[in-house]
Amino acid sequence: MPVSKLAVRRVNAILIEQYGHRQPHARDPLDGLILIILSQATNDVNCDRAFSSLKTAFPTWDLCLAAPLQNVADAIRSGGLANQKAARIQRLLREINEERGDFDLSWMHAASADECETYLSKFHGVGPKTIACVLVFFLGKPAFPVDTHVFRVCKRLGWIRAKSSPDEAHRVLKEIVPDECKLDLHVNFIAHGRVICRAQGNGGPRCGQCPIRRFCEFGKSVKVSELKVAPSSGERARDPDFFVTIKQKKELGEVADS
Ligand code: SF4
Repeated sequence: MPVSKLAVRRVNAILIEQYGHRQPHARDPLDGLILIILSQATNDVNCDRAFSSLKTAFPTWDLCLAAPLQNVADAIRSGGLANQKAARIQRLLREINEERGDFDLSWMHAASADECETYLSKFHGVGPKTIACVLVFFLGKPAFPVDTHVFRVCKRLGWIRAKSSPDEAHRVLKEIVPDECKLDLHVNFIAHGRVICRAQGNGGPRCGQCPIRRFCEFGKSVKVSELKVAPSSGERARDPDFFVTIKQKKELGEVADS
């Protein structure tokens, strides 16, 4: 049975109590897109450092596009995967410039979420997660990015099918999660996935300490006697789909394409 909006709102309220409430930070949508590219496979501090360094080295996007790839890579070195990210950034800038004749995406602030999504999905390498991040974080529009943690937690909760692809997860969760919950739930599922609903390879879920267990299909299936002990290989045997595959991680943008 599909999860009710009431249940989603209750899970959201519990996680806000646990991890806090979030506000969007309005900023230039293109800056946001570049930040999301830089955030791949690194932490917030290194991502911010790489973005500041990029803006210092290239005060305009014209200069960044015209620069040798190696110079762009050198500017973002602190964020990791520098060569790959530099190529993605320059390709995105080139495509936007060819499409518009400039780099001004400020019209998106007044556009609908669907208009922004349709526009951004034209560009190479800009997938559903990147688009949803730009919308919800920087434009304050309703969108629900699905990263590895969100994907895993939502599978365990039973909000998406165990065999859902990331694309299917984006489509389903966009409908299931009420607009006013999307930002908080996205950020708080990541926090929850890091410390409580951990990946099987990172210690497994700590269902005995989970404040949303009564809403969780997997959590309700764990015997009370098992809740007190560390997650065992028995849990793994019960739900082999806990692992997010490398293919799925690539689709989620968590793993760099080689
Ligand atoms: S009950 Fe367990 S599986 Fe469910 S969300 Fe909590 S930690 Fe994850």
